[in-house]
Amino acid sequence: MKVDLSGKAVLVTGASRGIGRAITLRLVEAGARVAVHYRTGEKEAKDLVGQCSGSRAFGADLRQMDNVRSLFEDVVGHFGGLDVVVNNAGVALRIEEDETGADWERAWDDTMNINLKALTLLCRMAIRHFRARGGGRIINISSRAAFRGDTEHYMEYAASKGGIVALTRSIARAYGRENITAFDVAPGFTRTAMAQDFIDEYGERYVVDQIALNTLTEPDDVATIVTFLASGLADHATGTTIDVNAGSYVH
Ligand code: NAP
Repeated sequence: MKVDLSGKAVLVTGASRGIGRAITLRLVEAGARVAVHYRTGEKEAKDLVGQCSGSRAFGADLRQMDNVRSLFEDVVGHFGGLDVVVNNAGVALRIEEDETGADWERAWDDTMNINLKALTLLCRMAIRHFRARGGGRIINISSRAAFRGDTEHYMEYAASKGGIVALTRSIARAYGRENITAFDVAPGFTRTAMAQDFIDEYGERYVVDQIALNTLTEPDDVATIVTFLASGLADHATGTTIDVNAGSYVH
């Protein structure tokens, strides 16, 4: 069996670092051209593109829906069409337990806009694009928090990720007959800047105690699974969630 994405164009959001960066490298290794999306990490995104033949960097702040629309249109315009969208960008904003005022509203809005609203808009634009082309694949990155919940400081994050699961299943149900498949990948703790914030707060012991393996999940452990899903070899798993959490549900 060979995972072959040659000739395919893929948009990966949040590709400037962490899991999105690792996904980009694996997709390119399999032959794809990747639209490397970033917000603040322009330099990192451009450096990555330097290692990824046929790829290109695109900046957009996903808090603004007009930017999301432009991002999708620019990417399609550049590549002449898209085969796969990987919605990976996300934020985990810490919110104080007793916060109910403007700070909470800001954190809620940013969390929902980036993690769920922009993701949904990109799915909608992808579906319209894929219908006209005879099909395509959507891979959404949720989190173990969607199923297990999160700590008192990250409840809003968990809520946004739960929304991704229901959205992804709905897309799989609604558009499968038009050759549009949709998958949810739910990482547990993965060694990135996002996880580091959490580890700094709760300690590495807290994290490792929750998993069945000896080592923390690396971004590449998620990237290989996303690449497999993107290849079309797993289309009959549409609507599914793949947990990548080092056995934490059975530990
Ligand atoms: P990360 O290292 O913090 O990277 C986040 C990415 O999202 C960056 O590329 C960042 O772009 C982008 N991003 C953040 N805010 C944005 C905004 N307003 N507009 C556009 N892009 C924005 O995170 P990660 O750990 O790789 O996480 C990737 C995905 O996996 C997220 O959806 C996360 O929720 C999920 N996940 C991670 C873990 C974990 O333990 N790491 C666990 C479960 C799920 P710039 O850097 O260019 O600004």
